[in-house]
Amino acid sequence: MSGHTEMTLVNEDGVRIDGRTADQHRPVHIEAGVLSNADGSAYLEIGKNKVLAAVYGPRECHPRHLQDPTKAIIQCKYNMQSFSVSDRKRPGPDRRSIEISKIIAEALERVVLTELYPRASIDVYIEILQANAGTRCAGLTAAAVALADAGIPMRDLVPSIAVGKADGHVLLDLNKEEDNYGEADVPVGIMPSTDEIVLLQMDGDMTREEFDTAIDMAFEACHELCDIQKAALKKRYDTGAVREGSE
Ligand code: ADP
Repeated sequence: MSGHTEMTLVNEDGVRIDGRTADQHRPVHIEAGVLSNADGSAYLEIGKNKVLAAVYGPRECHPRHLQDPTKAIIQCKYNMQSFSVSDRKRPGPDRRSIEISKIIAEALERVVLTELYPRASIDVYIEILQANAGTRCAGLTAAAVALADAGIPMRDLVPSIAVGKADGHVLLDLNKEEDNYGEADVPVGIMPSTDEIVLLQMDGDMTREEFDTAIDMAFEACHELCDIQKAALKKRYDTGAVREGSE
């Protein structure tokens, strides 16, 4: 987020470097039930991002001292593979992945009926196979589908997308260049049935007016994303197809 760049990110016609207009998200593809060993799973692509989410549980909580006698806890592990970026990322957890795991778990805690499973753990694994900005949103969107695929009772799905600002324009779903050289990045996640916000962060800055425009864009896109999440789940249960066969 340098806030200043030699590169033109949005041209005079309002077209972005990947050909999108300000309020267009990248192409999205979601598939539910892609891993036969997990209780629930999903694969998601948004533009060049490729994400896999796997859910186990509710199951016995380890380590046991984390057990909550009133509800299940959600343990989330977001991990970016070394090969997910062009400069090899150092493997293993770092401050960024620990932060992202925490905010995704907190967002999911708002929708999962954790009170139904005291002392249990619901484990959510998010693997970033290819990264191009917006991976925390992609991870959360995939994780919500994986939880639903696992049959875990939920109040709602959670679609999530980033908005931001680059070259003075408010933009939906920043790509890597826009994220790197732009002025602001605002990941948003919502519960679509009530429009409650379950994830909101902000890196960089924008005016109040720009922020309002950005949030409106994010909400609209989240509702669209939710339709794609539902379609993926519906497809999975219509055909009963698990990619690796129902062995
Ligand atoms: P998000 O992926 O949610 O947008 P960030 O804003 O922290 O999260 O990262 C933006 C992008 O920067 C990532 O999607 C990824 O493409 C790249 N990136 C993040 N961490 C690293 C890293 N350690 N090495 C190389 N690229 C990285």
